[in-house]
Amino acid sequence: APERETLTYPLFGTAVRELAQSIADDGFEPDIILSIARGGLFVAGALGYALDVKNLHVMNVAFYTGVGTTLDMPVVLPPVPNAIDLREKKVLVADDVADTGRTLKLVHDFCAGNVADVRCAVIYEKPQSLVRCDYVWKHTDRWINFPWSTLPPVVRRGGQVLDA
Ligand code: 5GP
Repeated sequence: APERETLTYPLFGTAVRELAQSIADDGFEPDIILSIARGGLFVAGALGYALDVKNLHVMNVAFYTGVGTTLDMPVVLPPVPNAIDLREKKVLVADDVADTGRTLKLVHDFCAGNVADVRCAVIYEKPQSLVRCDYVWKHTDRWINFPWSTLPPVVRRGGQVLDA
């Protein structure tokens, strides 16, 4: 199996500042950052500070069920952003990675036709992505370990009663 790409929290801090700098250098000034939960929330929050954008929205999309395993198609879960909030706005869609690109395409298509401009920013883009993101920190073809999803959920300590 190919080696994995590992993003640590310190490296994430560097990556997202560099990503923001490339957006600023391009002269793009979004009105709204639309994050794709959950991984995109980290990216959107950090970009919001770096680009001085306070108007953050969230879209929930379910697609992956495990490492490299997916549902048949990505599905939007509630709450769905109000189209009126996005209307005629310059929207920056933020996510952690464009892999197949199907999640980003779904969100991009959701915005298109309603907004003034929609662009995508990701930390990683893979070669097979059907969406070419406007802003990418790094290209890779590996599976990525993100700092927020590498460890399993925490379990309650001290709550178990062991049999004698
Ligand atoms: P896509 O729709 O582009 O195939 O996948 C988008 C979502 O799938 C990402 O936002 C992420 O949650 C998950 N995903 C895709 N590739 C990877 C990967 O290499 N590592 C991790 N941890 N998640 C991934």
